[in-house]
Amino acid sequence: MSLISLPMQATKRIALVAHDNMKANLLEWARYNRGSLSRHHLFATGTTGSLIERELSLPVKRYESGPLGGDQQIGAAIVSREVDFLIFFWDPLEPQPHDPDVKALLRMAVVWNIPMACNRASADFLISSSLLDTPYDRLVPDYRGHQQRPVKV
Ligand code: PGA
Repeated sequence: MSLISLPMQATKRIALVAHDNMKANLLEWARYNRGSLSRHHLFATGTTGSLIERELSLPVKRYESGPLGGDQQIGAAIVSREVDFLIFFWDPLEPQPHDPDVKALLRMAVVWNIPMACNRASADFLISSSLLDTPYDRLVPDYRGHQQRPVKV
């Protein structure tokens, strides 16, 4: 399959999401990395966003709370090229009422090849990457083949 390039600006649009048991972990990580995060545009699900805004005193565009549709809104923002970076501390030990939405968000991040970290070590590597503050060409499959696939009607 051929690839097309989706340019990412030097200033990234970073979405932050943490399930309840992971919020303290994400907040501590965000506090430590406040300097790096402050150079980018921040987005988050409702509750995560309020906490980050309060703790870091940085503006955060907040979507709905995750279980009320916020994960889906972030997934849609990835599809419409409004979010291009995801830090998602999902809880590996607790089932969530919105597990299908969680899976859908993870899937969109892979479909559109955005950088994504789902645990703290990965988030450390992403935030300290030399690519964070530079433009980057994100390669995604040319999905025209999918759009033009033969279907029986
Ligand atoms: P919240 O949503 O930030 O509103 O708690 C997070 C989630 O569960 O996806």
